[in-house]
Amino acid sequence: MVISLKQSRDSFKSKFKGLRFNTWLIFTLFASAILIMLWFLQLNLLPPYYRAAKIGSVKSIADNVETMVISDQPLSALYQTARENSLCVQLVDNFGHTSTFNGIGTGCYIDKMAPKNPGEFDFDEMKENIVKSRDFEYNYLIDYGSEMIVYGRIVDAHLGRYVLLINAPVTPEKAGLELIQNQFVLMTILVLLFATIASIILARKISSPFIAMTASAKKLAQRDFDVSFETKGISFNEFEDLTSSLNYATQELKKVDELRLDLIANVSHDIKTPLTMILAYSEMIQDFSKNNPDLLAEHLNVIIAEAKYLDKLVENMLELSMLQSGTITLNETEFYLNELILELMTLFLNQKTNVNFYADAQYIVKGDQVMIGQVITNFFSNAIKYAGDSQIDIKLSQIKDVVRVSVIDYGCGIEPEDIDNVWERYYRIDKNFYRDQEGSGLGLSIARGIILAHNAKYGVISEKEKGSEFYFELNIVEIIK
Ligand code: ADP
Repeated sequence: MVISLKQSRDSFKSKFKGLRFNTWLIFTLFASAILIMLWFLQLNLLPPYYRAAKIGSVKSIADNVETMVISDQPLSALYQTARENSLCVQLVDNFGHTSTFNGIGTGCYIDKMAPKNPGEFDFDEMKENIVKSRDFEYNYLIDYGSEMIVYGRIVDAHLGRYVLLINAPVTPEKAGLELIQNQFVLMTILVLLFATIASIILARKISSPFIAMTASAKKLAQRDFDVSFETKGISFNEFEDLTSSLNYATQELKKVDELRLDLIANVSHDIKTPLTMILAYSEMIQDFSKNNPDLLAEHLNVIIAEAKYLDKLVENMLELSMLQSGTITLNETEFYLNELILELMTLFLNQKTNVNFYADAQYIVKGDQVMIGQVITNFFSNAIKYAGDSQIDIKLSQIKDVVRVSVIDYGCGIEPEDIDNVWERYYRIDKNFYRDQEGSGLGLSIARGIILAHNAKYGVISEKEKGSEFYFELNIVEIIK
């Protein structure tokens, strides 16, 4: 019970940590923040904005009235203007005759001739001020509280001088404000609804590749290397990069795993066979040959040969892993390549095979002489192994600024499907694991490791039943013709 409670609490908590919930939360918070900002601006900016707009329209109406007065147009049209614009216009001529066009009813302040309370706006005083104004262009704008403006101006027509007064309320009408507010409430609801729907869709879209990738990663953790990571139709660069990196990593893991299995199979075979032989021959010595010197020598020879093979195998494995991990350091010197090859050939003189050496010049190259010697030896010993009765040619030829070292045999050759794999460690074309004392399936991969450590090119040209040419190239330091 306690556990299930804890589990449900954990799953509840993890829901709040999920991408979907958080995308929705961020979206909604973002939309709310924008709405709050809009509300704030609306409430604070609407009155001053409305006021500025009203002042502008009052001034332009005053311009129109002035034109009408100057051009003796009938002023009856002013009734409509006053109504349409919710204001009240008054014209006072030289003789004190007043014409009022009221479009705001009792709200018209300048129409009121009632006695003023102390502190109230003095309309007569304003008229006097306008008349007294020296340049006759005096615009009198008064703020009566914050609720209305009274605007005045002198208009000189040919019939005489007029004082034009316009009175307009500046507070937005209540109905208008309510409409705006209602619109805003509706807008808030719509925006929040939209943000929720959009965030849910977006969260689903964004989270779907993650969910798929997590499922694939779980399979990968269970050693299913055929799994693939997909973007689930989301073509964002980041997702594409991530999936292609993960797919690449999966392929590499697959290779490593296959290699590991191969390695276990091959090493166990290669190590187990000599160990079995050593054990068997040791028992034979114990049981039969310890008192028979000839047989004893024969059995001991087998044990020594098997032990040497084991020693060589372990040495090769160490060397290869050092080469692959890059922990080996090259001891680079300049040396005579031709001399090195001739020296190595003498090591194989006791072989029955006929070996020829061709060189178009004397080459001085730079590299780790011992390691380069090992590459040539590996090529050479393979050629001897696979040449059958044919001869072997070792050739030095110049290709631009490099010299190509080729070891050529005319033996069994390699099938095209095997040719790229011969450089892989433990790869043997003969899958029957026929155990040759010399062969561990590591020779060519060690050679490749050394060549790559020299940043050199290498390759093989081969045809089944015609023979093979294994080669690598070294930078020339000097040529002596
Ligand atoms: P091994 O010790 O088995 O020779 P290598 O790494 O040297 O291992 O070679 C890998 C495989 O490449 C060999 O098992 C053999 O099948 C093939 N191979 C190498 N050299 C030759 C060659 N000159 N002719 C034909 N096959 C070759």
